[in-house]
Formats: sequence, C-alpha cells, structure tokens
Amino acid sequence: MLPARFDYQRPETLEEALFLLDRYGEDGKILAGGQSLIPLMKLRFASPAYLVDINRIPGLGDIKESGGKLVLGALARHNEIADSDVITARYPLVASAAPQISDPIVRNLGTVGGSLSHADPAGDWGSVMLALGAEVVVRSSSGDRTLVIDDFLRDTFTTDLRPNELLVEVRVPAPSPHSGGAYLKLERKVGDFATVGVAVQLALNDGHVATAGIGLTAVGPKNLRARDAEESLAGAEPGDAAFAKAARLAAAAAQPQSDVRGSADYKRHVVEVFVRRGLARANQMAKA
Ligand SMILES: Cc1cc2nc3c(=O)[nH]c(=O)nc-3n(C[C@H](O)[C@H](O)[C@H](O)COP(=O)(O)OP(=O)(O)OC[C@H]3O[C@@H](n4cnc5c(N)ncnc54)[C@H](O)[C@@H]3O)c2cc1C
Repeated sequence: MLPARFDYQRPETLEEALFLLDRYGEDGKILAGGQSLIPLMKLRFASPAYLVDINRIPGLGDIKESGGKLVLGALARHNEIADSDVITARYPLVASAAPQISDPIVRNLGTVGGSLSHADPAGDWGSVMLALGAEVVVRSSSGDRTLVIDDFLRDTFTTDLRPNELLVEVRVPAPSPHSGGAYLKLERKVGDFATVGVAVQLALNDGHVATAGIGLTAVGPKNLRARDAEESLAGAEPGDAAFAKAARLAAAAAQPQSDVRGSADYKRHVVEVFVRRGLARANQMAKA
C-alpha cells in the first residue's frame, strides 16, 4: 500500500526542526530511520500531514562519553552503536543488545531515538535503558526536559513526548569498575522481534551486589522494569540462590500474552531462565 499524501520537510538545523514542530503540532511527525513510521504510514495506521525529516541535522547521531555518562545522540543508528569502540569496551549490555536488533538493513537505518520514541513493548532498547537507569533529554522551542526512562516510557506506543518535542539524546550512567551486563533475546528466526528479551546489569562492591537492573521485553504493555527482582539482589551475595530468587520475582512481574510466538506460561518461563542466565553472565564479567 501507499501512504496517504503528506508534506515533507528536511530541516538542516535543530532550531528549524523545532520551529516546524511548533507550527505543525499534532499534524506533524518526526522521521528518523523510518523503520517503524514508514511501515505504519504504508498500512495507513499513521497518516501525518507533515513529515519533519531530522536526518540532515548535524551532531544528532554522535556517540560519546561526557560527564561520566555515555551520550547517544537520538540519530545514532543501531549498527553504529554495535560498532562503537567505546561501547564495546565499557558498556557490555548496550554492546550485546545492538547486534540483536532485527537485521542489517533495519540496523543501518533505525535509530535509538526513534526506537525509544516509538515505545513498542517489543522494542529492545527500552529494556536495556531501564536496566541501565538511563535518562533521555527532550527538546522543544521552550527548552529541555530530562526524564528518567521509566517516566518517559508510559504505555504501549506511548511516551511522555509532547507533539512539539524532539528526543535529542539518551544518557547512560558509566558502569562502575566491577560490573557486567548482558541482553538475552529469544526470537523465532534471525531478524524477528523478541518473543522474550531480558536486559540485565549488575554491579558488585566488596563481594556483594551493589546494584542490579533488570528490563523485560515483549512481556507486558511496555518494556517492564523488574523492580522486586532488582531489590532482592541489593546487598545479596552473588550466586545461584540469589539469582534464582531474582529470576522468580522477575517472572512474576512479567505480564505476557499468549500469541503466535508462544503461550504466556512459556514466555514467563523464558523470563525466569534468561534472568538467571543473564545475572550469572553479568556476575562473571563483574568479577573478571
Ligand atoms: C522488519 C523490522 C524488524 C524490526 N525488528 C526489531 C527488533 O528486533 N527490535 C527492535 O527493537 N526494533 C525492531 N524494529 C524497529 C526498528 O528498531 C526501528 O528502527 C525503530 O523502532 C524506530 O526507529 P527509527 O529511527 O526507524 O524511527 P522512525 O520509524 O523514523 O520513527 C518512529 C517513531 O518515533 C518518532 N521519532 C523518531 N525519532 C524521534 C525523535 N528523535 N524524537 C521524537 N520522536 C521521534 C517518529 O515520529 C515515529 O513516531 C524492526 C523494524 C522492522 C521494519
């Protein structure tokens, strides 16, 4: 199918983009990688009157460390994240998730900002950012707002973004020296969305768990944070018993639906297995 008629703008600066978003309001949509928006427009589930293509805005795709944080520009492509040296060296959870997103074509075009703004409960970045305690910075002509990712992701395909706001960057706290992380994803075939995904981040201090982050993909109305599981790990001795307890709590927090990818019981079981495995893997990294 072909999309409905729309007007297309390609601003060269952030200021120009924000001006256009103010002008178009609810009738405008930002175009980033187009990997979610264009299919929706072709199916006529979305028919924006105006598209604001942000791909020409300089600096919006930068990946860098600044102020003790990893800063991912909204336009950082999944593949650029997968290929980043700083991420490979210091952010194992981010590094393990990026190459598991879809296929090379989608990864070449799709962006972290577009993925988070789209807020698909089966999107992988939402869970990763929940587990890492990330923040997003959103900008409008009135200024910036910084939101923790938990507040940004509100519901299925729903974020805290206002129509005139643009997500400009994602900030991930730098991991402490004794930490590790992993993303585990079950998919029916390579390139598929997750049947279940689990993001795990673990930091140790004096032989005990200092902090843990656990995000769940495709088992709820949005990416879920398994808070009870995280809290059960704080101060615990890292090992099978603590990891099994956290995995049970994470499975209890999941809200899966039965569908073509599997039954709700099966998905809940996968959450439990993946959380246990992810914690064991993160623990090994943290101790290394
Ligand atoms: C075949 C296929 C398989 C896929 N598999 C996976 C998968 O396994 N895992 C996964 O996580 N994703 C998957 N995706 C989705 C993919 O990751 C998309 O790249 C992502 O969801 C959207 O990013 P985008 O840059 O393409 O955004 P777009 O499609 O351009 O935009 C998506 C939405 O976000 C808004 N938006 C975009 N950028 C911004 C911004 N900076 N500020 C505010 N709003 C913005 C747009 O207006 C639109 O509403 C798949 C997509 C396809 C087509």
